[in-house]
Parts: sequence; structure tokens; C-alpha cells
Amino acid sequence: MNARVPDHLLIDDVRAQAALDAMFDRVWAELAPPPHMTPLEWAETFREMGEEETSKPGKYSMEETPALRGILVETGNPNVRKICSQKSAQVGYTAGIVCNVIGYHIHWRPSVQVVMFPREKSSKDFAAEKFEPMVRATPVLAERVNLKSRSAGNGTTRRSFRGGLLKFVASNSPSDVKSSSGRIGIVEEPDDTNTNVAGQGNAIALLAERTKTYAPDDLQLIGGTPTAKATSLIVKEMRSTDQRYFMVPCHSCGETHALEWDNVIIPGLKLSDDELELPAAELDVKWPQREVYGRARWEDAYYTCPHCGTIWSDDERIANIKRASLVPPMYGWVPTAESTTPGFYLSELLSTFEGSRLPVLAMKYLTAKHEFDQGDPEKMITFWNSSLGLPWEYRGELPEEDELRERAEPYAEWTCPAGGLVALMTVDVQHDRLAVTVWVAGRGEECWLTFWGELSGRTVLSHQGAWGQLEELMQHTVRHASGAEMSIAAIAIDCGDGQTSDAVYDFVRKHDSRRRPVYAVKGASDRVGRVEIWTTPKAIDPNRKSTKADRAGVKVSIVGSAKAKDLILGSTKEGGRVRLVGKGPARMHWYKGVRDDFFEQLLGEMKIPGLFNKRIREWTERTDRRNEVLDCTVYFVWLCRQLRLNVFKPTQWEAIEFKLRQASLLVAEELVTEFGEDSREASVAAADEATTAVVRAATEESGQEDPAQPVHTHALPEPALAADVPPRSEPVRSMGGGRISLGKMSRFGGRR
Ligand SMILES: [Zn+2]
Repeated sequence: MNARVPDHLLIDDVRAQAALDAMFDRVWAELAPPPHMTPLEWAETFREMGEEETSKPGKYSMEETPALRGILVETGNPNVRKICSQKSAQVGYTAGIVCNVIGYHIHWRPSVQVVMFPREKSSKDFAAEKFEPMVRATPVLAERVNLKSRSAGNGTTRRSFRGGLLKFVASNSPSDVKSSSGRIGIVEEPDDTNTNVAGQGNAIALLAERTKTYAPDDLQLIGGTPTAKATSLIVKEMRSTDQRYFMVPCHSCGETHALEWDNVIIPGLKLSDDELELPAAELDVKWPQREVYGRARWEDAYYTCPHCGTIWSDDERIANIKRASLVPPMYGWVPTAESTTPGFYLSELLSTFEGSRLPVLAMKYLTAKHEFDQGDPEKMITFWNSSLGLPWEYRGELPEEDELRERAEPYAEWTCPAGGLVALMTVDVQHDRLAVTVWVAGRGEECWLTFWGELSGRTVLSHQGAWGQLEELMQHTVRHASGAEMSIAAIAIDCGDGQTSDAVYDFVRKHDSRRRPVYAVKGASDRVGRVEIWTTPKAIDPNRKSTKADRAGVKVSIVGSAKAKDLILGSTKEGGRVRLVGKGPARMHWYKGVRDDFFEQLLGEMKIPGLFNKRIREWTERTDRRNEVLDCTVYFVWLCRQLRLNVFKPTQWEAIEFKLRQASLLVAEELVTEFGEDSREASVAAADEATTAVVRAATEESGQEDPAQPVHTHALPEPALAADVPPRSEPVRSMGGGRISLGKMSRFGGRR
């Protein structure tokens, strides 16, 4: 170096050289001939197992996890972009698939890799128990990954290496997830992740977003143990794969089949009729009775071939599995559906580990069965999920869709039987559409659906797309049995999605009026049912902070969705309101000809054991359908409470009926006059007064009557004044109608 070169330039020079070197490294990496080594070959060539990982340290071998061979082969298939595995525990998936894929993409084909775990703890456990031991034991990895480095960009959950980066993210940390993208995306245990990460979709959808920029060279690897059938993410994901089963040949007859628990025989579990007729003493000698296991002998459990009935010893079971796993190109796996995405079903019956020997599984099963028979299904669910790799089907709590479909009643869309008196519109906001229900409420929250449909169009921008259609739809009237046309009395719109909330606020600001209140509502984060359906509204419109602007701004009302779902769907065998039939309080009615997805969507969620505490059940979205109808119905119940319809007095309902009768007289005139349109409008206006009365009554209740407005006291029909009706002095007086100020609708609730 020239001594006259100033120091700062010298430093730059060194840096420039280093940058150049790094660039050449990358260029060489790019230009190098495509690697001909697959992840399977890599694992069998380079991977070492240390004492931390196995009782048999040394060269890595697929011998112990034969069923995984066919999966690892697919991770090296250049035409495959996504691989799913629905698996039990104890099949060696994490060490055999996840670790090998990571190692391969550190050493052989350096790439940016993102691994998503349900929670931060699971990512740290993986780092400490699986990843770091692999690096320490495998020389080619130890050379590349400095586990001691805590310098910039390195740490337990982030490791840089030449040509790539490995990042562990937790699905419950959305900022973590959003800031990561990689060519290799791995999701571990999607069923244990939040189904909706910060309102942006489930973990699998989020990860797909993260690898998108690398398409079509990206690889998504999704593996998880299933939970509840209807809500499981991995079960849902498997539906779009080619659904491969590992077919095991019988050493006796040569036929192959996918191993099933049904073929496991536990001696003594099912005694024959002859045996049951033996004298007790003799039976006890032959099949001794034990605690928990009864007469069943898990020690002697064995497998039988469903084709020839041959008994397989456990060693024969393992030998048969190994035999199939060596046959290319599928290594034992057989697809059962058409798809370009390989999907694998793995159960513990495919495991060769000592802890998964048949007698051990039989013992687990008997223990679970014992508790199940005593009314505690938890262990049986765990056995089903973690040992068999199968989802558990919760039954008997919700009615079937067909049951609901059969109960549809003969009234038309946008009409309503006599009992329905207050029409309420509720809107669930999706990015590409608005889902809308109109329910008409009556006494005791009995309700009639009169419209279910969707308005398609973008919803992110204000006053555009679907919002214009909603403006029109909210002018629609509902024809009451009396003939009167009822306007929509109030509207609730979901503003829970961050991307569309501004558009909702703008819509609410524009349309919320004295005549017809429009509310921005948001489901509470509670999934258990701890938050009341109706609670005091909070002012949280982020755009309007000053008190002055606040008055013009939007208040967001929090809806206790879980509690409302308890009410509507129920969480016990007795069921919720959907199960009630006939007429009367709390009954729900729907019309023949309603769009058919109404029924499945109304049953769009299930209350199942929670992620963190299996003893506490949480409302969970089903992954086999959408649930907008349920959300809309939840908002309807909230709206009833907001308008206090649930505590209306008989006189208040009668006043509405009176107004509707007046309006219907105008409709009757329509039949004999040539000015039909005019009288129709008059009818609507008259019916509106009925609506007004509703809101007014609520205002009255909350002590916020606007003294500036005149109060008419013209007579109600006589029956309304029967003995069981409260004295004329209070609610009756308020029911006269007239255009009463509704301006405080959005606020009164908070002061009641
Ligand atoms: Zn056989």
C-alpha cells in the first residue's frame, strides 16, 4: 500500500476488497454447476449425529426413520414447491426432515430460510435441542455456522452463514413474521399457531406470503400434528395435496396396506361370548382383572394383516416398513388424490423407535380409554392426535346443517312474519366483499332472517367498490306481514380488520344519522366468553384524537363475540338458540330460498379445547367453510342489546305494532289508488315512525330524551293499556312517535 494514501481511503480500500471478495463468492456460488446432490444424499453423506441427539452417535442414517425417506426425497424435487405432512409424534420428522432441509440449505445450497414456530419458546427449544446439536456434530455445518457469535444479525433465533441466513420466527409475533422472507419457508405445528395472526390470516398463509418473492424457486415445508377435525389447519392443508399413504407389504401374503389402529389386537380387550360365560374364578385366571387396563393385556398386543390375518410380530412390522421404504421412486408412498403438492400421512405405527413399540401404544390406548369411559376424553384425544396423527371429531354439540335447512319457513326474502318488528342490518367486512345479513327482531329477541348475501368489490378504499352497493342496500325495506314497509332501523359494521377499518369509519361517519344509527363494531379478542356481549363503548378512532373532532368521529363498540356465540350456537349438549324450534323468545327463523351457504356459515365455528389450556374451550373457526353469517348474527345480537330491544316492555312493542298497522293502511290504499308509488312512500314513512319509536324508547330509557322534541301522546290501541302494562306515565308516553332526535344513538349506550 502506498504510505501517502490517507488513512480513511485505506480503510475504504480494505472494505472494497472485502466486498469484492464477498461478491465473487456469491457469483461463484451462482455460476457453479447445479448441485447434483439431493437433501437425502446430503444427509447420508455429511450429516453426523452427536450424543446430544441420539443414543447411537455417528453417521446419520434413514434406517431408524424409514418412512421419512420418501418425504426427504421430495424436498429435493425441483418441481415441488410445497410439501405437507400430517403427522403423529415420535416419527422423527423434526430431526429427519426439518433439520436435514435446513442443513442442506446451509451447506450445499445456501439460501435464506425462515422457520415458523407457534411461539417464541418453541423456536428457542428447537434451536437448543435440535438445530445447535446438529451443527456441533456435523463438521460441514460447524464450519459455516458460528454458534458462539452474538454479533450483529446473530443469536439464538437468527444465524447468518455464507450465502444465506436462517431465521426462527414465532407466529404470535406478527412483526417478526412480516419482516422475514426466504426461499425456504418451514412451518412447524400450524395447528398450535394462532388461527389468525393479528388479523392477517393463519400461519400457513402468512408463510406462503414470505416465500412468494422467490417463486417458483421457493419451497414450503409444512408439518404438524392435527387437532380438531373441523378447525385443524394441517387437515385443511392436506386436502389440497396428493394425500400419500405409506403402503406396507405383508411378509406373508405380499399385499400392501396403510397401517391402521383397527388392525392392532389387544388380547383380553374384547372377550368372546364363550369366555364371558366362564365362571368368574376361571375368567380371572385366564384374563386377570387389573386397575385401569381391566382384563386387557397390552404387553401382548400385536398387529394383524387385514388381507390374510397373519399375526405380525413387532419386529416383522418394522421389517415390512423398511422393505417398502427402499423402493424408488416413491419409497413406499402412494398418492390417493390428484395434486402437484405431495402430502404425507404419518402415524406412530410407522415408527421404529422403542417408545413406539406396539405394546407401548396399546398401554397408552388403554389408559386413554379408561379415562374416556369415565367421561374425560382428553387423553383419548391426545392418543388420536399424537399417536395416530388423526384429527379428533367433536360431535353432538351443534345441529347438522340439514336440520337447519329443513326448518326454513315459507316467507320470502325481504319480507317478515308478523312477529318481526325491527329490521337490523349487520355487515362483516372482507377485503373483496361485504357480507350482509338483515335480521328482524321481535319480542324476546325472537328473530327472522330476511336477507343474506354478499356485495363483491374492494373494501379497502372509502366510498368505492362494495361500499356503494351497501349504500343502496341499506335503503331496501322489509315488507312486514301487515303490508307495511319497514326501513332498516340500525346498522352495525365490523371494523376489526386493520386494512379496512378506515373505510368503515368513513362509511359510518357519512351515514350515521339521527334517523338511522350506524355503528362501527369489533369483536373482543376473548374466545372463551368472558367479555359481555354488550359493554360500554370506547372512543378509539385513531384518526380523531382531539375532543372536538371526537364528537364528529367514530366510536368503536366492542362486541363480546364469544359470549354471543355461546348464546347462538351454545357450547354444551343442550345447544344454543339455533337448536330451539317453534315460536317464542330467542327463536331464530330463516326463509326458504335463502342462499344455501347460510346454514354451514351459521355453524362456522366450534368451541373446542384451547391451545394453551385444554380444559378451557375456545371458539375456533372451522377450516372447512367460511363464517361470515355467524359474525353477522353475532353483531345482530349486539345490536339488539345496543338498542335495548332485549328489555323492551310490552307497551313498547305494541307501539311499534300500532305504527306498522297505520302504515299498512296506507299500503291498502295503494291498491285502490292510481298513485301507488306515493302511497308506498307514505307507507315507508309511516313505518319509519315505528322504527323511530324503537330508538326513541331506548333514548328514553337511558334518560336522554331530547326535551326540544315535542312528545305526542295520542292514544295507543286499548289492549296496550291492559292491567299488565306499566302505568301510562312512563314508557307509554314516549311511544307516540314523531320524528324524535336519534342523534345520541351512538352515545347513549355508554351512559345507561
Ligand atoms: Zn398378509
